[in-house]
Amino acid sequence: MSVYIPLATKYRPQKFADVIGQDIAVRIITHGMQKNRLGAALLFSGTHGVGKTTVARILAKAFRCEEYDRSDPEPCCRCASCLGFASDNQTDVVETDAASNTSVDDVREIIESCQYRPISGRYRVFIIDEVHMLSKSAFNALLKTLEEPPPHVKFLLATTETHKIPETILSRVLRFDLKRVDLGLVAQYLSSICNQEHISAGAETLSLIASAGDGSIRDSLSILDQAINMSANSELTIQNVRDMLGVSDDADIIDLLRLILNGSLKDSIAQYRRILESNISAPMVVRRLMDCVYILTCSKANVEPQESMISENALQKLEKLSQIVSLPALSLVWQMLLKGIEELKLCDHPEVVLEMILARISYASELPDLHEIIAAFSGTSEKSSSKKLANEKPSNSLFDEAKEMFPNATVY
Ligand SMILES: [Zn+2]
Repeated sequence: MSVYIPLATKYRPQKFADVIGQDIAVRIITHGMQKNRLGAALLFSGTHGVGKTTVARILAKAFRCEEYDRSDPEPCCRCASCLGFASDNQTDVVETDAASNTSVDDVREIIESCQYRPISGRYRVFIIDEVHMLSKSAFNALLKTLEEPPPHVKFLLATTETHKIPETILSRVLRFDLKRVDLGLVAQYLSSICNQEHISAGAETLSLIASAGDGSIRDSLSILDQAINMSANSELTIQNVRDMLGVSDDADIIDLLRLILNGSLKDSIAQYRRILESNISAPMVVRRLMDCVYILTCSKANVEPQESMISENALQKLEKLSQIVSLPALSLVWQMLLKGIEELKLCDHPEVVLEMILARISYASELPDLHEIIAAFSGTSEKSSSKKLANEKPSNSLFDEAKEMFPNATVY
């Protein structure tokens, strides 16, 4: 019986060339190695799952490779040292997680073992993950070694929170800020994995998985793993993946947004409750609404969205909506949704809270906008057309109604 290996482990990059979406960092590292200018300590920063420890491990492998050749610094993946990495058998590579080893004593242990030369190969390599978790005294102890590191030692540090690392340490390390991987690139990568695994999945399905992985290759592969486990055969359908992720159909969310912008509270709530029936959480509904508002805003401003998590069909639907909504209205809805996310966290019944948020946005859509107020006061506009955030059905503003009721009123 074959042993199941998670995709993220099975396809973990073994060489610099295998690393996805970190071209600049990889180029600087390999050029630095060719010129022998990398120094004794490097720091990899970036959000969770972008490949910090993956790059650190490949670099450790290259530092220790028996076939190391400066002109081509990739690890050979064949020598005893490289094979030792594959089987987790490397005595000269010490990997520590600072999250659970924060004290000065933990660091002292590392520093003391720095004195010893490697049993084999050129370097002893210390990989310290989540290095920002070290205590102040632990950082001080580490600083002394970083100031004068033994020539046979390399420190590879990784962190998600660079700002928590003392300046004194930062000034002694070569820093690499790894970026969130572009979603298009993640989807492309997932497609190549599916080919190798003989899994059939459409582009839209893979984009959805990439977007749920939020720029992390590791998370995206775990979601792909889950989706494969859930499917009855070797075909992934968009509907199955949507159900698994609790993501609603884009078209349903766009309809909800249209109803909100139009100020139809009753219909908005009915549509929202329909969406909830497909097991989508309230925070996810807000997130998807914000995705749509962002894409609409880009469309109004005539710029490409940084990334689009919306299907091609849904984009056309949004395009239509963009013609009847203004930028100030979108900005207002964005603010209210953003505030809504915080409110959802404060209450035990986020589903109910979101209905109140929808009511608030609908109410805002009934207010006249600033231009109308100015126009009404200066008398330049006899009839204002915008009562709703979306001008789908032109109607009189509250001020026009007031003016009709009190034609002789003077406003101070
Ligand atoms: Zn090797």
